[in-house]
Amino acid sequence: MSSIALRADPSCAPPPACRLPEPAPCGPALTVVRRPPEWVAPGLTRKIAAFLDRRPATPCLVVDLDVVEANYHALRAALPEAEVYYAVKANPAPPLVARLIGLGARLDTASLPEIDLCLALGADPAHLSYGNTIKKAADIAAAHERGVRLFAFDAEEELRKIAAHAPGAQVFCRLLTDNAGAEWPLSRKFGCSSAMARDLMRLAARLGLEPVGLSFHVGSQQTDPAQWDHALAPVADLFRDLRADGLAPSMVNLGGGLPTRYTRPVPEVAAYGARIREAVARLFDAPPRLIVEPGRGLVGDAGVLETEVVLVARKDETEARRWVFLDAGRFNGLAETEGEAIRYPITAPDATDGEPDGPVVLAGPTCDSVDVLYDRAGVRLPLSLKAGDRLRLLSTGAYTTTYSTVGFNGFAPLEAHYV
Ligand SMILES: *Cc1c(COP(=O)(O)O)cnc(C)c1O
Repeated sequence: MSSIALRADPSCAPPPACRLPEPAPCGPALTVVRRPPEWVAPGLTRKIAAFLDRRPATPCLVVDLDVVEANYHALRAALPEAEVYYAVKANPAPPLVARLIGLGARLDTASLPEIDLCLALGADPAHLSYGNTIKKAADIAAAHERGVRLFAFDAEEELRKIAAHAPGAQVFCRLLTDNAGAEWPLSRKFGCSSAMARDLMRLAARLGLEPVGLSFHVGSQQTDPAQWDHALAPVADLFRDLRADGLAPSMVNLGGGLPTRYTRPVPEVAAYGARIREAVARLFDAPPRLIVEPGRGLVGDAGVLETEVVLVARKDETEARRWVFLDAGRFNGLAETEGEAIRYPITAPDATDGEPDGPVVLAGPTCDSVDVLYDRAGVRLPLSLKAGDRLRLLSTGAYTTTYSTVGFNGFAPLEAHYV
């Protein structure tokens, strides 16, 4: 069991509307936290710890499916009106997707292979959403042929593709949102303006489609529950306009964005649920059908990535900061360290209690200079750290396994175990 945990310090200014699970002290970028030996770090469950005690080959991810299940139940309790469509791309591992299907989850898919994966695991095609707004005509036709009925769009050409290749399908239009407060914002790549959405929803009806509703995504790792409130106001206005146009929109897709716990505290899912329910009740004339599409929030804290130190080096005898090179990096599972936006908590299981630590740059093993994980984040690690020691990156269950190259520099994609 790790005796030293290193975690990035919370930023000093939590979003105003959040109820934080614990106070966020200000201070240096990273602090060493000492815990009793039986302490299990957030996400390092006893099942995962027992698996890692057997020293599996590294790098590897270990995911505790019971944590995924607990997250699912917590979300259902927080937002009982909403149908949960798990965003498969966050972690498409068959045992994980199968567990969620078994619990009654529906699925948000981004591509035909994801649709086929879900169907092979027994998902009902009527419980799938083809939520990517960028789809080839052939893939729309294939999805329709397999029984998928619900499709996203945000542009006229896409709508016409759906009308031609999935006649009569249910469609929802994705709106632009500003993604304020998101640690992994999605920019302007997806969505269209309210004015355009109104025109396109009317066009959808004329094309023989069923324009069922509207969607948005407030940005991934959204730490401010009020952002759903801000996004819902224009949706409610548009619902009224569309009703005036003679349409009958009924579905509001709240998208993803629910956060997972990294180095900073985030509000509990109950706070998001309460805020969303309050906003829906206040803004809508009649309660709409709600859909939520969590990815990160369901699976992020269910995984621990174990990695081996390959080299500890200094650039000069006089430099205090060491470079620590790991067997996991930007190209084999840790792509979300891009911009150092997502800061995984790190523990050093081979260190002894009370050991002194010092500043490091953390980098991956490839011959590419962008393969640096944390430079500015202020990571500190034990001074005794050496090649062969292991580190654990917590909350690595989302956007790691499939978010890796097929073999850049010959390094295999991240191995994963589901327990
Ligand atoms: C990626 C994605 C999600 C999941 O986002 P998270 O931030 O991981 O919850 C949900 N819906 C759509 C349409 C997505 O593209």
